[in-house]
Amino acid sequence: MTKNSNTSRHIVHSAQQWFLLILLISTATICAYLLDSFVSITSQAMVYVLAVVIASYTLGWVKSVLCAFAAVMALNFFFVSPRFTFQVHGSENFIAFVTMLVVALVINRLATGLRRETEVAHLNERRARRLQDLAIALANANTAHEVLILAQPALDAEFDGPCLLALNTENGELDTSSNVPTAIVDGLRCCMREARVLGPGTERWPGLDAWYLPLGEKGQICGAVCISSVAADDDNGREHARALCTILAQALWRVRLTSSMLAAQGEAQRQQLQAIFLAAISHDLRTPLAVVVGAASSLQMQREKLDLAEQDRLLASIVSEANYLTTVTENTLQLVRLSHASKLISDTSKHDWESMEEIVGAVLARVRERDPGRRIISKVSNNLPLVKVDPVLIAQLLSNLLDNALKYSDDKIDLTVDTVTDGPELQLRLLVEDRGPGIPEEEQLSIFEAYSRLDHNDQASQRGAGLGLAVCRAIALAHEGGLVLHQRAGGGSSFTLSLPVDTVQPQALGDA
Ligand code: ADP
Repeated sequence: MTKNSNTSRHIVHSAQQWFLLILLISTATICAYLLDSFVSITSQAMVYVLAVVIASYTLGWVKSVLCAFAAVMALNFFFVSPRFTFQVHGSENFIAFVTMLVVALVINRLATGLRRETEVAHLNERRARRLQDLAIALANANTAHEVLILAQPALDAEFDGPCLLALNTENGELDTSSNVPTAIVDGLRCCMREARVLGPGTERWPGLDAWYLPLGEKGQICGAVCISSVAADDDNGREHARALCTILAQALWRVRLTSSMLAAQGEAQRQQLQAIFLAAISHDLRTPLAVVVGAASSLQMQREKLDLAEQDRLLASIVSEANYLTTVTENTLQLVRLSHASKLISDTSKHDWESMEEIVGAVLARVRERDPGRRIISKVSNNLPLVKVDPVLIAQLLSNLLDNALKYSDDKIDLTVDTVTDGPELQLRLLVEDRGPGIPEEEQLSIFEAYSRLDHNDQASQRGAGLGLAVCRAIALAHEGGLVLHQRAGGGSSFTLSLPVDTVQPQALGDA
């Protein structure tokens, strides 16, 4: 609101009040004139008293007094003999004037008080509504920054002077920008230390020109607020500022508690994972290790007594058990690593541009050593975009999916790599589909949990630690992608990995 529009509004309001004053006196005079031949001068005076009462109720005290004066003058001029003169008729006129003046002042005082109380009631109602709206908005804030974004405009809208809101850091220090005057920073620190309001109208530092309010109670202070250009007698405003600060402090405290609770939960999960990891080592690694040690020591001690076929069988079991140990160890370590450092790994900007054709080619070359029947049929689209991924992790994800497909199915396995559009975004899609027993719909989410396994009633599939899919999902999430499982039409499982594709591609692989 500009200063000019304020001034013009004030002029219009004042003109309206003068107009009302003139209208009241004129109407009273006309009424008294019309009643002239029917009533006495006392009743005519009452008509003027009525005009004074109305003026006192609606106008300010100066105009009310002027109205009382004008009423006495008009009564005297028009109706008291000698008429149409201002000749004062002794004490009668004086008493009339004093009476009207007292009536005007008393009514004006009562009306002003009533008006002020009404205004305060309306102001309090508006403030209470705004506090409620702020509390509702703050309930959705999840970070201290979001609370600040809501709080600053709310404070600015409530108070005329500039408002400063500062939060304290983890070590209790106030987080203010360097251009905040030292006096204000000192005030904020002082109110936080004392956990009480300082400034005009309070018992502490009443000589200051701003209120300093702490955000929270002693021992739970999250910051402080400075509201400038305030009046000492504005008790209502100060109470409102305190209420606002209480709501902000509650929101900030809730946000802090939630984040420390999540951190504690994360820590608990990490510890749980470590415990599971240890349990896995003792359970899943012991048996294959025992087989390796048994077969190796048989070969070492009794090689001469064993025929060639038996030696080959023992060697094959050592290789198979060692491979199994490698897979389980790889998956377990990867899961622990990913859950420890998911933030670090998910920073895809640190990854290099990679060609999915090359990753898939390398994985197929390795996995096909375990696929003598050449069951995997791959369809890789031409001209696939480059993706920013960790090639080792993506290779591990793909070989886990292909190994599972080989392990849990006997028929052909389809591996498809292509691109799809998801709304405006381009995604690289990798599909592994088999014709195995599939995974029941109710298990399709929980199967991605670590150590989650299904009983397929099939000896070959009894082997496994239940870590492969958990690792796959963790790798997909670490690349901001997704891994979903569907029942394949016609029977079997269908795993889909989708990875985001950067629209800005390097010119050629050499640039990457
Ligand atoms: P593992 O295979 O080592 O047990 P995974 O996490 O890779 O661990 O798989 C978890 C479980 O999901 C497996 O035990 C198996 O029951 C089921 N599963 C995984 N892949 C398939 C598949 N392609 N077809 C059927 N079941 C599967």
